[in-house]
Amino acid sequence: MNYDAIIVGSGPNGLAAAITFVRQGLRVLLLEAKESIGGGMRTAELTLPGFRHDICSAIHPLGVGSPFFKSLPLAEYGLEWIQPDLPVAHPLDNGTAVFAHRALDCTAEQLGQDGPAYRRLLSPLVANWDKIAHEFLGPLRLPRHPLVMAQFGLRALLPATIEAKLLFRTEQARALFMGLAAHAIMPLEWPATAAFALMLGTLAHAVGWPLPRGGSQSIADALAAYFTDLGGEIATGHTVRSLAELPPAKAVLLDVTPRQVLQIGGEQLPGGYRRQLEKYRYGAGVFKVDWALSEPIPWTAEPCRRAGTVHLGWSLAEIAHSEKMVWRGEHAERPYVLVTQQSLFDDSRAPKGKHTGWAYCHVPSGSTVDMTEAIENQIERFAPGFRDCILARHTMTTHDFHHYNANYIGGDINGGVQDLRQLFTRPVPRLNPYTTPLPNLFICSSSTPPGGGVHGMCGYYAAQTVLDRLF
Ligand SMILES: Cc1cc2nc3c(=O)[nH]c(=O)nc-3n(C[C@H](O)[C@H](O)[C@H](O)COP(=O)(O)OP(=O)(O)OC[C@H]3O[C@@H](n4cnc5c(N)ncnc54)[C@H](O)[C@@H]3O)c2cc1C
Repeated sequence: MNYDAIIVGSGPNGLAAAITFVRQGLRVLLLEAKESIGGGMRTAELTLPGFRHDICSAIHPLGVGSPFFKSLPLAEYGLEWIQPDLPVAHPLDNGTAVFAHRALDCTAEQLGQDGPAYRRLLSPLVANWDKIAHEFLGPLRLPRHPLVMAQFGLRALLPATIEAKLLFRTEQARALFMGLAAHAIMPLEWPATAAFALMLGTLAHAVGWPLPRGGSQSIADALAAYFTDLGGEIATGHTVRSLAELPPAKAVLLDVTPRQVLQIGGEQLPGGYRRQLEKYRYGAGVFKVDWALSEPIPWTAEPCRRAGTVHLGWSLAEIAHSEKMVWRGEHAERPYVLVTQQSLFDDSRAPKGKHTGWAYCHVPSGSTVDMTEAIENQIERFAPGFRDCILARHTMTTHDFHHYNANYIGGDINGGVQDLRQLFTRPVPRLNPYTTPLPNLFICSSSTPPGGGVHGMCGYYAAQTVLDRLF
């Protein structure tokens, strides 16, 4: 069988590329190493029967905000976004919490003297979200909206630690900002880490931080069902080790990271390009815990009981310290922790009256250290009695993640460091980053712009490149 395009890997980017092709009436085959499709979008009973846990991605501001996903009829294929009462809360050591509400004004109000600064910072970005999405959720190119780009870009270039101190006077507002910025998985003294706080803060107000009913698997299932309905073919349990083993196709797109591109492309890739790929930098890893719980997490601060996501690590100094330690190869005693509590808003995740908890912290690349106690200590600090609610737990080290998905090199969940040097030039500096020196081989994973997250934009832009060049 001759295909127009073969895609290796069924993460959000592989599926997005595959869908972009079948929408043009092309003949497409999607190959996936695992027995099920989805990449970072799978949900499973990791702990006890009836408790459904998101193995990787959980909360999807980039999914609901993705211009590509928005263009697809995913609701018709069973995808339902649930908006928690609050997108995110951040408990403080005095038993209260700061939070982001969908409404910008409500969020600004609780920040007291820092409220006006918060409003001034985010209201132009929220109003221009569609334009920002166009400029930043794709490859680097001449801006279509230079003013908006400048408004966002100049602030985004600062280190989060400096931006937080310049903008806000209270520890509360700084903590909220740093909790958002720490999604960068980098030391927060590094340039452009403020961009993560600006992007995630803007998304909280512009589109929310929703979760999909049934788990992130529902996003994968909806994308796959739409793809096959349009005539696409999927083969699972098929690990691709070399280009030679693929059926004939006009284009091959790899939803994998540079290390696997090197293996799959082998000697067919010219030496210069191979050397560039070898220099690609991977980031820190994650350690994750999932819990089956007898009741909701007993947070002291009421906003945490209404939030889909809770950030732990109370002050600017504490979060900055823990993220810096990770890059020094150390493990923080009080790590910055991301907690999500899907079952509060989606009753399909746990048996009646019971709950799930999902949390991870950042650890050095390749770490084998068990961070369960450090993570649970952080939760106990803000939710005394938490441990008494645990019915069962499931943990994953960086090795478990890498074994689970070959793209998570050393436990890096973003397909490579997302610093200023590598965000738009990933995987190597080329006029078009989705191309390789082989005219029919392309890369479409989160190791291309705009990087990590479930949004499908890397796959969409890679497929557009192929359509422009080959069809
Ligand atoms: C713990 C964790 C939490 C996360 N939380 C969030 C979140 O809340 N929100 C969010 O937006 N993002 C989150 N992410 C990140 C998100 O999951 C990834 O950025 C995203 O899935 C990357 O998509 P991708 O298509 O590039 O690759 P992936 O989703 O990694 O998919 C790659 C696929 O390719 C397959 N594959 C690899 N090699 C081969 C081969 N040789 N042959 C065949 N198949 C192969 C893999 O099995 C995999 O299915 C999280 C990730 C993790 C691990």
